[in-house]
Amino acid sequence: AGIPVYLGVDVGTSGARALAIDTAGTVRGSAHIALPAPTCTDNGGQQQAPELWWRALLAVLRQLADALPPALEPKALALDGTSGTLLLTDRNGYPLHPALLYADRRAAAQARRIAAVAPAQSGAHGATSALAKLLWLREQGLAHAAHALHQSDWLLGRLGAPWGVSDENNALKLGYDPVARAWPQWLGELDVPPDMLPQVYEPGTPVGLLNGELAAHLGLPDSLTLVAGTTDSVAAFIATGARTPGDGVTSLGSTLALKLVSSRPVFAPEMGIYSHRLGHLWLAGGASNTGGAVLRAHFSDAEIARFSLAIDPHAPTGLDYYPLSRPGERFPVADPDLPPRLTPRPADRKTFFQALLEGIAAVEKLGYARLGEAGADTLQSVRSVGGGAVNTAWTTLRAHTLGVPMSPATHSAAAYGAAVLARQRSDETAHQILERDNREQ
Ligand code: ADP
Repeated sequence: AGIPVYLGVDVGTSGARALAIDTAGTVRGSAHIALPAPTCTDNGGQQQAPELWWRALLAVLRQLADALPPALEPKALALDGTSGTLLLTDRNGYPLHPALLYADRRAAAQARRIAAVAPAQSGAHGATSALAKLLWLREQGLAHAAHALHQSDWLLGRLGAPWGVSDENNALKLGYDPVARAWPQWLGELDVPPDMLPQVYEPGTPVGLLNGELAAHLGLPDSLTLVAGTTDSVAAFIATGARTPGDGVTSLGSTLALKLVSSRPVFAPEMGIYSHRLGHLWLAGGASNTGGAVLRAHFSDAEIARFSLAIDPHAPTGLDYYPLSRPGERFPVADPDLPPRLTPRPADRKTFFQALLEGIAAVEKLGYARLGEAGADTLQSVRSVGGGAVNTAWTTLRAHTLGVPMSPATHSAAAYGAAVLARQRSDETAHQILERDNREQ
């Protein structure tokens, strides 16, 4: 037998990335395919043909399989997809409409119906939740659909897993209760037929085997185990290597998003604090409106690079900014009218730039403190991802503000996190999975 490797695929709405890792976590191969842009409708809709995902998945897996040396033997595969992306299918997994992407906001009226019955801490709130989309689609003449599936659920089914299988992370926005580990009773009040909801597994659980014909077509073993995946953001978290209570991951993208491993779930809906289940641990998180977009509004990328080298992170400006692009914040301050605080404006641009970095770091500190106050474990270390993670002056400044060690992230690609899930229960053999499937049928 060859050297075992585990495959992870991150399927987003702009492309698909696949990685193979070995038992030690070393990347042994990778591939990437771009996807055509989604279609926007003039009433706030965003949709994409699921067939495009499927073609991208096949292409990226084929590219990966071709790139792997023959001595490597793929053992298992996991997928992550964009959370809140929903598709209704018939009994055989045949799509009944173009998939609704996470940013589709057409289900506003349905969100109000959900708000009337769902507890505040449910992940199903808001017009972009998968549940709001499900209710909206059912009202568009699709009430007869057999399965409500997320992006990665549908792709896993096409690869060979039974139809109607999902994971505890994707299912959160469809209303799944991760504390009770069940679909809640209140879904009945919204007339959601229970058999339309997927069967939910812990991420990393073997759920099927790669279809034999596909295996031959792709050049992959037909004994390849398919395991339950997760959402793109949880996969990106897993990829960083954070996994002990108190491990934080800060995403420094256009916006600032914090995640913290906790031994307890925490919820503070008024601040948008929610928790994903991660096996026996929890992943508490919140997202602020501050972030790199504010930097970009005032500085070019070249200036960001130049001023970052020029500032002294040990000499704070003390300007106490709260950088926002427009008024309004949810986390760590719940105030829909919170004004940006970007004054007084110093004479030189370098000092202004440093004050913005300090302001974002202060919001980061307050955010981790809020997660702790809500009941999560105290912050012990921080890993950084996103566009701002490369900025070493900022990392130094943030370490000083946060007062904890800054750890390097193992990997920045969500696909790596999916591959880690594929490796998680590699001891379960194909034979055991088939036996369990037969018992359950
Ligand atoms: P997203 O996917 O959220 O749009 P990215 O993770 O690609 O964002 O990060 C983009 C952001 O990163 C931009 O808003 C930019 O301001 C910020 N950024 C890029 N390079 C740097 C840098 N060297 N220092 C600080 N911020 C940076």
